[in-house]
Amino acid sequence: MIIYNGKGVYGAVAIGRISVYKRQAAAVTRIEITDKGSELKRVEDAKAKAIEQLQAIYDKALKDVGEDNAAIFEVHIMMLDDEDYNDSIRNIIETESVNAEYAVSVTAGNFAEMFAAMDDSYFQARAADIKDISNRLIACLSDGGAGQDTSDEKAIICADDLAPSETVSLDKEKVLAFVTAFGSSNSHTAILARNMNIPAIIGVGEEFLKNINDGDLAIVDGFTGEVFVDPDPETLAKLTAKQEEDIAKKKLLQELKGKENVTVDGKKIKIYANIGSVDNIGSVIANDAGGVGLFRSEFLYLENDDYPTEEQQFEAYKKVLESLPGKQVIIRTLDIGADKQVGYFNLDKEENPAMGIRAIRICLTRQDIFKTQLRALYRASVYGNLGIMFPMITSVSEVKKIMEICDSVRADLKVSDIPFSENVEHGIMIETPAAAVISDLLAPMVDFFSVGTNDLTQYTLACDRQNPKIEPFVDIRHEAILRLIKMSADNAHAHGAWIGICGELAADTSLTETFLRMGIDELSVSPSFVLKVRDQVRKTDLSK
Ligand code: PEP
Ligand code: MG
Repeated sequence: MIIYNGKGVYGAVAIGRISVYKRQAAAVTRIEITDKGSELKRVEDAKAKAIEQLQAIYDKALKDVGEDNAAIFEVHIMMLDDEDYNDSIRNIIETESVNAEYAVSVTAGNFAEMFAAMDDSYFQARAADIKDISNRLIACLSDGGAGQDTSDEKAIICADDLAPSETVSLDKEKVLAFVTAFGSSNSHTAILARNMNIPAIIGVGEEFLKNINDGDLAIVDGFTGEVFVDPDPETLAKLTAKQEEDIAKKKLLQELKGKENVTVDGKKIKIYANIGSVDNIGSVIANDAGGVGLFRSEFLYLENDDYPTEEQQFEAYKKVLESLPGKQVIIRTLDIGADKQVGYFNLDKEENPAMGIRAIRICLTRQDIFKTQLRALYRASVYGNLGIMFPMITSVSEVKKIMEICDSVRADLKVSDIPFSENVEHGIMIETPAAAVISDLLAPMVDFFSVGTNDLTQYTLACDRQNPKIEPFVDIRHEAILRLIKMSADNAHAHGAWIGICGELAADTSLTETFLRMGIDELSVSPSFVLKVRDQVRKTDLSK
């Protein structure tokens, strides 16, 4: 047995086999072949395998997320069976005497281009699906190939580090836990792991990857940050007991479903959930969150190979709103840049990307992107109770400009007779020290504040949230942070705005009482923490 130590980012225990994450193969190479018959047979076998995989995913999705959401996998199966698509692959192999992977890759490129050029937004969106099914087919041709292991067994995914876009594209149904050699606990990958309710350990060091192999048995203890590779029977027994105890504890919390978020002495608070994708709605409902306090809309951009269209965004926002009737859903406009890089944005390489062109700064310099998102948001607003929130605010002039753009987008919709709700709340994130310090000036301009403690901490303490080496210097409960939150809360209330916290600190139950005493109106946490925070609120007595 070898024990590795890192930092646990979600408390749970996982026991299973290791799967070493394989990066997507850089490019498919063109290889001349002589035996066309066997190449055609490889395509047929890979296709059968891909359809089998998709059928299994469809069946599971049908059970978990319902027919509407599962339908896309049925479409994928139909696409794989499409005559023109298959003819094209066959023709390329036969006429050019090339390998199957190359033929699939060229076909994918041609079809994706053809779809992207169509006028109808439905067909435009199919370009991404063609690429998706073709990648699956290529993966099946190379026996599992790139990315995640395609076997059915759930596994502990081990990698050097995972970019947010890689994490979102993992098949979550097959992930038991994450272990990364590098990475920091406040990174978006860590946040995603928390959202997915799976144990994750980051920063176990470089040696780890050199010493593990696919299929090794391992235990991940997300509470202590330990990874036991090839555990001895004693450790296995001890950690199995710990896992069972944890599951029992989490089950107990389920009894709090349907109960109010109210302190012993009667003070109420809203507890909402943070989500990063439409797929997380199930866990918002399962954990009885009062609403969504932060929908990180940038994941729509990270999942795509090109700018998501107004129509694609509208459908996603509409779906979230319709799935949570009567509940407030706060969607944050895109927060790209810094660690969330998206190739097609073609952002310049910066020395200090966290302090560079990110989030609202991109939106204000590339207003076409911003307006497309706002149009989609306002159009969706008639399907529920929408709040729109803007990230990385530092000044009054930014908020003024944002509100002018919002006004102009609504005016355009009005002229075109496109309906939108008049009750959309507008808020800003307080995640820079500047915003907290001038919160008295910002509060009259908005309906609400939401404190982003992840960035507020990095900018206040001058500690890069991506740099694991700096963690010993990060005091997440630093008095400076707490004072900035208190100052923002007082200023919000003095001007009739409400204030929430949506950074990871909102789930820190050692601070729940502090936040309640500050008068924080809402805490927005990963869905799996909603009941834990409710439990803490219900145990708190502010009269003492
Ligand atoms: C934050 O900074 O606290 C926050 C909620 O935003 P993100 O983590 O997406 O940067
Ligand atoms: Mg932030």
